[in-house]
Amino acid sequence: MRATKKDFCVASPKLSVIIPVHNESANIAPLCERLLPVLNRITSVWDVVFVDDGSRDDTLAIIKSISKTEPRIGAVSFSRNFGKEIAIAAGLDHARGDAVVIMDADLQHPPEMIEAFVERWKDGYLMVYGQRTDRSDETRVKRGFAHLFYQLFARFGEVSLPEGAGDFRLIDRKGVEVLRSLGEKARFSKGLYAWIGFKNTGVPFIVEERQRGTTKWSFRKLVRFAFDGIAAFSTVPLRIWTYIGFLISFLSIATAIYFLIRTLLYGSDLPGFPSLIVSVMFFSGIQLMSLGIVGEYVGRIFAEVKRRPLYVVAERVGGAADVSDTLV
Ligand code: UDP
Ligand code: MG
Repeated sequence: MRATKKDFCVASPKLSVIIPVHNESANIAPLCERLLPVLNRITSVWDVVFVDDGSRDDTLAIIKSISKTEPRIGAVSFSRNFGKEIAIAAGLDHARGDAVVIMDADLQHPPEMIEAFVERWKDGYLMVYGQRTDRSDETRVKRGFAHLFYQLFARFGEVSLPEGAGDFRLIDRKGVEVLRSLGEKARFSKGLYAWIGFKNTGVPFIVEERQRGTTKWSFRKLVRFAFDGIAAFSTVPLRIWTYIGFLISFLSIATAIYFLIRTLLYGSDLPGFPSLIVSVMFFSGIQLMSLGIVGEYVGRIFAEVKRRPLYVVAERVGGAADVSDTLV
């Protein structure tokens, strides 16, 4: 018999877990096996919202079959791949707990940590984040880029990101409502978590090996992600060109004066053709770069003014189905 909507209307769950999934069919069952005992130890009033981010394997089918026996597990399924950031936003829209935990599906975020998160939450922290103690699981190149990104962000960003804090975290309902009310489309969650403020603390943890499947982040996606982060929380890339422009104009005037005096004193031994070409190329390069930067921001303005919804839901499963009417 198909469960009706009413069956899911248990008293508002105390604890919700959001898990974005993209082609994670091999990980769902092992994850649930480890996660559910942890949740049951904390409270019986919990729910899990999988956000199926356009998986092309049988991820959704597996969640559906688990949801039949355990209706506290539900899913929101996107019509295509919208990206992890958007999946988290959808999870926040559908989670109903007083506290919401965000975690990855690949068991790199140990579910047992949730107990420690909840302890800190009960101590009065509205945001508790997992803080990875080492990144040795990642390639040297990826670590290098991550380090560069954090340095740039620390220097130019308008908020400060705690070292090693990712998406694995617990957020109090208050924080969730603030996050949901933020209208921006190019979402950089780590920045948004820091931006909303509230009393927060970190709990150190060791990132485990990915259980099955491969990472869903390509290098291109990561670069895109880093640029979104910087552009969303800093206008420095936009402004810095004014200063560089000033400096270069000043230098070119100085060079012109130098050449003028040299010609007056020693006469022209012709032609300065190479320097002409070099300077023309140099300036067109600078102009193209600055145009590109302006373009990045204009592109963002364009995305914001379009007022498209963040995501498109194709299907809802289990407890997550209750939320459908509150969404546009
Ligand atoms: N993910 C997603 N949409 C994407 C890419 C990833 O929902 O477009 C999910 C993925 O299924 C996993 C989590 O985000 O649960 C983290 O992804 P992954 O483990 O591939 O990232 P990594 O740990 O390598 O940073
Ligand atoms: Mg992972």
